Amino acid sequence: MITDALIDPFGRKIDYLRISVTDKCDFRCTYCMDEDVTFLSREQVLSLEEIVHVAKTFIRMGTKHIRITGGEPLVRKNVLWALEQIANTEGLEELTITTNGSQLYKMAQSLYDIGVSRINISLDTLKADRFFALTRKDKFQQVIKGIEAASKLPFKRLKINSVMMKNHNDDELYDLTKFALDHNMDISFIEEMPLGVITDHNRAETYLSSDDVIDALSQYYTLTPSDIKTGGPTRYYHVAGSSHKVGVISPHSHNFCDTCNRVRLTVEGRLLLCLGNEHSKDLKSVIRSSMQNDALDSSKELENAIIEALALKPQQHHFNLDEAPQILRFMSATGG
Ligand code: SAM
Ligand code: SF4
Repeated sequence: MITDALIDPFGRKIDYLRISVTDKCDFRCTYCMDEDVTFLSREQVLSLEEIVHVAKTFIRMGTKHIRITGGEPLVRKNVLWALEQIANTEGLEELTITTNGSQLYKMAQSLYDIGVSRINISLDTLKADRFFALTRKDKFQQVIKGIEAASKLPFKRLKINSVMMKNHNDDELYDLTKFALDHNMDISFIEEMPLGVITDHNRAETYLSSDDVIDALSQYYTLTPSDIKTGGPTRYYHVAGSSHKVGVISPHSHNFCDTCNRVRLTVEGRLLLCLGNEHSKDLKSVIRSSMQNDALDSSKELENAIIEALALKPQQHHFNLDEAPQILRFMSATGG
């Protein structure tokens, strides 16, 4: 039976779950992780069967939208099997994915066939040498090939996500926007968040606010604020002469917590109640015990653990770029 049990202490309906299916990645984006990173061992991470089980439990409890992310979700072996199981679960309205695009040249068609409706593709530059500097990998052409492949398929929506950093890629605001619109895609510009300690740059120095992004783009496009919501924290603008939109994700300058409708499941089975706080509950053992035992009592146990976890959801996050990061996990471990 599908229920409606996912309400947090502030009355927010939590109908959006992001699942990180791996902490591993084939890139090393400078704002996301250090070059030398130790990934989790196989024993530490949920199996795909366990991920499907917990996804189905959330859907039974009222989750309408699941986004699959990582690390890089498409590098996990057999991930398409898990996506198909989740997509076919009654009650789910949308299965979406966030990817760095490196595998899309060979997986875009399968993702479409399985029923993934929207894909967010991360791309911070259109310059191959800069792409190498930002991701530490030489895969620019492969990503562009993947974007071209996806843009030929009738997905409900494709979007480019770009993390903007002063003096790193802010001279490409117009080029990235034009690229997205020319490929029938939306684009969102993200303010970098202080998740994990990085050594590549000082985040306070590279911070570029969403307002600066919109001001700069307004020299080229007529942008008008839109009230369109797609379930995430993006604030959208209509672009005159285009059916596609420019968005901004502003964890610093426009706190989006009052409308927060989501929680995140890490690949270790920890439910994170907030991107910018450590509040979380470890569900791994209860997921495992409820998998081993199909009895009604054990699935109730997982549902109760999820409801108990929601009671921990804080009202909002506070990011301060002038302090050392308070959140020591990287975005790749969080499930961005
Ligand atoms: N690997 C996939 C990708 O890059 O799209 C999915 C995971 S990645 C962690 C999800 C999103 O988080 C990407 O759009 C990435 O640019 C963004 N991201 C990573 N670290 C970030 C940070 N410190 N601040 C803001 N966004 C970040
Ligand atoms: Fe990998 Fe995505 Fe992090 Fe880049 S942002 S290192 S692609 S997980």
